[in-house]
Amino acid sequence: MIYIYLFITGIILGSFYNVVGLRRPLNESIIKPRSHCPKCNHVLSWYELIPLVSYFIQKGKCRNCHKKISKEYPLIELLTGLLFVLSYLIFGFSYNTLLMLIISSLLVIIFVSDFKYYVILDGPLVISGFLILLIKYLEGGLNQIFVAILSGLFLFIVMILIKMVGNKIFKRESLGGGDIKLAFIIGIVLNYKLGLITLILSSFFALPYALIILYKKNIDEMPLGPFLVSSLLFVFIFSDVINNILEVFFF
Ligand SMILES: [Zn+2]
Repeated sequence: MIYIYLFITGIILGSFYNVVGLRRPLNESIIKPRSHCPKCNHVLSWYELIPLVSYFIQKGKCRNCHKKISKEYPLIELLTGLLFVLSYLIFGFSYNTLLMLIISSLLVIIFVSDFKYYVILDGPLVISGFLILLIKYLEGGLNQIFVAILSGLFLFIVMILIKMVGNKIFKRESLGGGDIKLAFIIGIVLNYKLGLITLILSSFFALPYALIILYKKNIDEMPLGPFLVSSLLFVFIFSDVINNILEVFFF
């Protein structure tokens, strides 16, 4: 039962996150205008707005103009639903499940806004940061919050240093402000050690994508947020394994 509940909550929130990621970077309201077909402006009724279900019933086409609906909508909804289910599957009834739900939500919104507009929204970062600190408090009291904020600040500073070096080498803006704020979130969720691993891994995650867009589209600008937040999720899920490896090799 709980899996079905999480999946449904996930696809509903996923559909909301998609709207946030698509509209907020343009400073548009999330509520107005009502959801409509971008091709014919046909305003969608409630039965055309059911996450995943409507897309499949309408065979991926608008009911009014019969043009194709972007696959991004069902994919984003499905991704959120699956990540929510996975959270409970991995961590069961625990604080870590709550943390993974927050990271998953942040991941989905950043995927939408950063790939499309090169923007990481402040709102979702602030809300996630607040919720993460609240969970840390419930888990380990003020002490835990203090440690979390310190490692967040540490990662924040590391990211600023990387940006300064990057700007010198590339002679232009190398990292966005959103990436630096995201590093703070990475620090408060994990700790400074795992946070550093996350930053290193994210560059490996980003490399194949960077090579593809450089050669295929000849674009020399790319979002880093999606890779940072994917790397965060990866390290969070495998934190025990990674901690063990670190102990064997370094500490
Ligand atoms: Zn239409």
